[in-house]
Amino acid sequence: PVDIATSDGARSTTTFKDVAGNAAAIADLGEVVEFLREPRRFAGMGAKIPKGILLEGPPGTGKTLMARALAGEAKTNFFAMSGPDFSAMFLGVGTMRVKSLFRRARKAGGGVIFIDEIDSLGGKRGRQNGHVEDDRTLNQFLVELDGFDASAGIIVIAATNRASDLDPALLRKGRFDRSVTVGLPTVDERAAILELHASKRRIPLGTDVELGRLARLMPGASGADLEGLLDEAAILPVRGG
Ligand code: ADP
Repeated sequence: PVDIATSDGARSTTTFKDVAGNAAAIADLGEVVEFLREPRRFAGMGAKIPKGILLEGPPGTGKTLMARALAGEAKTNFFAMSGPDFSAMFLGVGTMRVKSLFRRARKAGGGVIFIDEIDSLGGKRGRQNGHVEDDRTLNQFLVELDGFDASAGIIVIAATNRASDLDPALLRKGRFDRSVTVGLPTVDERAAILELHASKRRIPLGTDVELGRLARLMPGASGADLEGLLDEAAILPVRGG
């Protein structure tokens, strides 16, 4: 989930150290850190800089967190919007929001643009009747994506939990031609996420607490679920005195 109010164009201070597990996704995102840091140098060498990376996976698995961390690693700005924010009842509002998002990123000198729930913006075109407005928004998005060049220092990270629903135009070369699957954490990853959050927030743990054992007891839990568990654990003893 994206908190738009706090994520618009701000310098991100999150880094890959704030993410546990998700090694494959971090490796892929790590490759573009250098591009974002020195876009002109890479563009000047004629290097082909990726424009879009698609993160596919269930909710709460750290997709937003990693996009923010990418911006933090590259010491650049973070812009975020959610697919549904683009669909509006009024004619032209969706296209206007798309234009404004990219304009702000260009004005800021580049950054990571994160689009959560890209499927609601870029579902297959013409799938439902009467969604002409959504098609126009998607078209505008494609125009913006094709419009900036490598030296702009902009990368678009999009998240979805079902890439198969996406309009093929989005996945074409030079657009979101890289996609990384972000799965639910394995048992070791769950333990690492619990450890990371417990130590980051300095949650005092009882001597009999084994985070590894908790991780084994929670198959299917996402990173967000595990964070929620620690929240509860920190609140209950205070409430209970
Ligand atoms: P998504 O965008 O995939 O729905 P988020 O990035 O919004 O998931 O995750 C919500 C919160 O859950 C994060 O801010 C973070 O605190 C926690 N979280 C999720 N996955 C991880 C992870 N792999 N490592 C550390 N924290 C995580």
